[in-house]
Amino acid sequence: MKKFLFATVALAAASAALAEYPEKPITIVVPFSAGGPTDKVARDLAEAIRGPLKATIVIENVGGAGGTLGAAKVAKAAPDGYTVLLHHIGMATSPALYRSLNFKPLEDFEYLGLVNEVPMTIIGKPGLPANNWAELQKWLKDNQGKTFLANAGLGAASHLCGLLFQQSLKMEMTTVPYKGTGPAMTDLMGGQVDLMCDQTTNTTAQIAGGKVKAYAVTTPKRLTTPALAKLPTLDESGLKGFNVTIWHGLYAPKGTPKAVTDKINAALKVALKDPGFVKRQEDLGAVVVSDARANAAEHKKFVSDEINKWGPVIKAAGQYAD
Ligand code: ASP
Repeated sequence: MKKFLFATVALAAASAALAEYPEKPITIVVPFSAGGPTDKVARDLAEAIRGPLKATIVIENVGGAGGTLGAAKVAKAAPDGYTVLLHHIGMATSPALYRSLNFKPLEDFEYLGLVNEVPMTIIGKPGLPANNWAELQKWLKDNQGKTFLANAGLGAASHLCGLLFQQSLKMEMTTVPYKGTGPAMTDLMGGQVDLMCDQTTNTTAQIAGGKVKAYAVTTPKRLTTPALAKLPTLDESGLKGFNVTIWHGLYAPKGTPKAVTDKINAALKVALKDPGFVKRQEDLGAVVVSDARANAAEHKKFVSDEINKWGPVIKAAGQYAD
């Protein structure tokens, strides 16, 4: 009887705690440096979701190893809804890139919903003599073996794009890894590296401001964002079939109570309809996902499909780490 009473009281206390969630700030872990593309999406999303979630949101940047350190940190965090992860396509490409990955994308997380899709751009340092795609191709040929391509490490979007770019051009470049394309952008603008393939959430303002040279977009269709609209696609520029579109999703550690994940998902759905958020994303070339994709089932199915899609492509390119 005593035991039963204790269990009932404990259960009541647990559900009261859930009913009150959130009672303290929620940390969104960004697995890349501050000031980069994923960080920008996270900070915009934090702004839009804090109202519907009735919580203070803190952003924690855990960069390194192409996003895998931050993802592993959240996989091992307490499943209480106070630590969540905003991650991108790296969630689906890392399993093929790392021989021993320190988290399991399909087993270690509760899926909270997709957030957005982001095209990428091929950009160059301001002093690069090439002013358009044709000139860039010639410059690359003339400088074979001497070009430096920045990326955010194995597992990053910039790594995937750069890998396919070199493969399609049948040219090898020296890659320079950073903890995120935020710091890589600083070095590109300073001329320390030559080229980068990076998400429009990080490149649109720099292209519009003439701080970097822009050559092409990685999507099959041209973009409509004013600063990017004149850029050709890589596909139309001769790299037939080139198509890299980055996406972001939100995750909680496995075992986070459903009452909590439901609350986060409901708030995410509201945030994705926030006109300010939608506009800020559009201005950066990104597209916010529809309601139908902002849920656990669609999100998990999509990640699983992406793992199956990119695995063979990456294995064929023969790049992986221990
Ligand atoms: N998303 C990374 C960042 O925020 C860049 C990348 O994946 O290439 O820095």
